[in-house]
Amino acid sequence: MRDILPPESARRRELTKQFVTQCELAGYHEVVPPLLEDLGVFLRVGEATDVVTKEMYDFVDKDQTRIALRPEMTAGVMRAFVQHRPVLPWKVWYAGTNFRHERPQKGRYRMFDQLGVEALGVDDADLDVEIISLASRFFASLGLRQVTLLINSLGEHEDREQYTEAVRLYLLAHQYELSEASQATLERNPLRVLDSKREEDRQIIADAPLVADYLSEDSADHYARVLSGLDSLGVSYTEDPRLVRGLDYYRRTTFEFAAEALDSAQNAIGGGGRYDGLAEAMGGPATDGVGFALGVDRILLACDAEGVFATEPTMLNVFVIDTVSGDAARDITHQLRAAGISADRRFGGGSMKSQMKSADRSGARFALIIGEDELAADEVTLRPMLGNKADGEQRRVARADLLSELSRYSSQTVTNQINPHPADSASADPTNSGTLT
Ligand code: AMP
Repeated sequence: MRDILPPESARRRELTKQFVTQCELAGYHEVVPPLLEDLGVFLRVGEATDVVTKEMYDFVDKDQTRIALRPEMTAGVMRAFVQHRPVLPWKVWYAGTNFRHERPQKGRYRMFDQLGVEALGVDDADLDVEIISLASRFFASLGLRQVTLLINSLGEHEDREQYTEAVRLYLLAHQYELSEASQATLERNPLRVLDSKREEDRQIIADAPLVADYLSEDSADHYARVLSGLDSLGVSYTEDPRLVRGLDYYRRTTFEFAAEALDSAQNAIGGGGRYDGLAEAMGGPATDGVGFALGVDRILLACDAEGVFATEPTMLNVFVIDTVSGDAARDITHQLRAAGISADRRFGGGSMKSQMKSADRSGARFALIIGEDELAADEVTLRPMLGNKADGEQRRVARADLLSELSRYSSQTVTNQINPHPADSASADPTNSGTLT
């Protein structure tokens, strides 16, 4: 597990903010499930997956209840849905930390963050299009360009059963040519073998039956409407007939986002699909649903690889330098902050020179200086630090006029350009400019 320190922590927060903006634009509201749940919640959802069988941090608590730290968010969200029975459609987003006891490597951590949405209670292909285009607008808002959407349909439950059986029989016939890991997976969950990226499995997977040949007419219609919706919105995609999700409750649409700038072993930055049996698995009524989960850590790696979404430290407006007693620094920083103007200061005194150094390092727009002269005159010296013409020259300002003097800048923004594709006005982010207040 890693510590997330500044400035990376600010970058993550900004990433979440961009995601939330997209969710709110589309009418999704936040759901906050607990970080741990009764172990059964996860078992009911993912009994046949590695995530649940091998990678969960589970333990027995002081009440002798078997508990697990969540390895993903959907199970908790579905448990909450069944418990609270909200009005349908229920469109929610989440952001949170998950835990999986995996072998840590680049892009794969034991503690990682996901962003996601779930939309429940509507069986409409347009909703599939809605969430896919939401994710795609989110990636664009970060400046990411090399994200491929892979999409497939798994059909209805019956289509899927027939297909799974066909895959099982096919793989059984080639059982001993498969990697050992895939042989084990085959017993538990034949479709998951198709996910294998191992070299020895590749050819066998390539010749496996295709789900498209098992789709009912309804499923094929639904899929066609999803694709034509994406076409209409200009969301490009690649159909991938090998894209499966190994869980029983997935049906129809399934998709994954791959960051082309990353190595193929860790380039999955998110995935999702349509499901029906999830609410039932939690003891609720059968409910249509569609959702996705995106991996924050990998999205940031993809941003690094594309050289986009660089971190700009939050702009500090004022750095207060007090060479007298520190009383004025204490009081003025408080006064500024209370007025909504960000301010920091030097503690423990120090010479004018060393305090100016601190002001420089802080990246503040103005240094506000109080020496003997200023104190006697009940004034401060305001020194612009960034060379912005708009900030004017160094000047003396009466303490009584300080707030109004600084608020003059509140309508001006100093743009911290973090989107390297300014031509993309749709993805330019106005929230990344530092405003004075
Ligand atoms: P999953 O819940 O396994 O479908 O994962 C959804 C997304 O979460 C993946 O596409 C990854 O981007 C991310 N993810 C899953 N596991 C990890 C992990 N151990 N470390 C970092 N990101 C992960």
